[in-house]
Order: sequence, then C-alpha cells, then structure tokens
Amino acid sequence: MKIVILLGAPGSGKGTIAGRLVAADRALRHVSSGDLLRDAVKRQTPAGVEADGFMKRGELVPDGLIANMVADLIEGMAGDATLLLDGFPRTLAQAEMLDVTAARCGAALASVVLLDVEDAVLIDRIAGRRVCPKCGAGFHVTNIPPRQEGLCDVCGTELVTRKDDNLETVRNRLSVYQAQTVPLIDFYGARGLLRKVVGTGAIDGIVDRVRQVIA
Ligand code: ADP
Ligand code: ZN
Repeated sequence: MKIVILLGAPGSGKGTIAGRLVAADRALRHVSSGDLLRDAVKRQTPAGVEADGFMKRGELVPDGLIANMVADLIEGMAGDATLLLDGFPRTLAQAEMLDVTAARCGAALASVVLLDVEDAVLIDRIAGRRVCPKCGAGFHVTNIPPRQEGLCDVCGTELVTRKDDNLETVRNRLSVYQAQTVPLIDFYGARGLLRKVVGTGAIDGIVDRVRQVIA
C-alpha cells in the first residue's frame, strides 16, 4: 500500500481536491480524518462522544483517538490501494504514530503534498463553505455553487454550514494549524517527501498539479 498525505490549512481544499482525484482513479482511497470524526460524533460512538467538544471549539482531538481510528482503517485496506490521507497527521506525535502503523502494515509513505493558500483566501473559502449532511459532498456559495441553490448535486439533500465554520472557531483552527501542524512541513521536508503545490486558482489546475506530484 502507498500512502499520500494531503497537508494544508483548514480551507486549503484538501477534501475538494481529494474528491476530484478519487473520482478519476479507482486505485485511490480517500480518508478524511474530519469526516471520520464527524461520523463518529453523529453515531455517538465512545470516540465520537470524546471528540465532540474539541471539534466544536476548533481544537484538535487527542492524538491517540484519531491515530487509532486511522490505524484501524489502514489495517483493513487492500494491499494494492493508494491511500489519500486528508487531515491526518496534524501533529508530530500523529506523524510518528502513522510511521508505526505504516511499518506494521508494510505501507510506504510516497509523498506529502502541501496545498499552499494564503490566510485571506482560507477565511473566505470557509465562510462560504456548504456541505451535504447526507453524502458529505462539499460546495462553496460562489466558487463551487450547487446546480440548485442550497441543494446537494449528488443526492438532493439540503446543504448545511458546518458547526465549526464560524469566524471565531475558524480563527482558532488557523492558529492551531500554525502551532501544531506547520512543524510537519520540516519533518517531511527533511525526509525528502514534501511536494509544495499552489492551492489557488482554477480547481482543475490545482488537481492537475497535485496529480503530477503524486504520480
Ligand atoms: P478543517 O481541515 O477544515 O479544519 P477537518 O474536517 O479536517 O476540517 O477537521 C475538523 C475538526 O476535526 C478539527 O478542527 C479537529 O477538531 C478535528 N480533527 C480532524 N482531524 C484531526 C486530527 N488529525 N487530529 C486532531 N483533530 C482532528
Ligand atoms: Zn449529498
């Protein structure tokens, strides 16, 4: 198994880009830590109950909690798949836990893609973000509008704003990113794995650039 990590601030487009990549390539599996956690919260599993408050405040959930969820998934995954990890790891401790899981499963870290986007753009993207509560598809009121206003293109469900997408929580998420996740850039850079990609401009262009660096 190959692992590709998508690294980038909240709103940098990790989920959108991953969605485009998997739609075009059957060998790719998209795992979003945020989606895993939101699903656990919805189902009120023990991990979900523990994660809920952290997520509402825009703080990171405990490292072991999310690392175990991702490890379970990796262990159950087919050997010939390429895993696109979106939102994990987000701390150095998580990166080290991922190394242990990868070694145990014979998976190789192939590359770490850094989606580079400036803060003003991040805030605008998050403010306009709408998601489908049923199938998880993501939209933006002006950048990626649904065909019918307020409704999911895929399943027709009414779109919602994520609970943690309000300005105060977003500011907190951006400062958490600076403090806890930015150190991963050097961590993977030192291993020669980092691929920096311009994360603004037309979506097709971003997808093409990412595809080139993970090929
Ligand atoms: P975004 O990238 O826009 O912040 P995500 O959906 O990736 O959105 O994450 C939403 C929330 O889920 C985070 O603010 C955090 O509380 C939690 N979360 C997601 N991934 C992790 C992780 N790897 N470690 C800790 N917390 C996480
Ligand atoms: Zn939907």
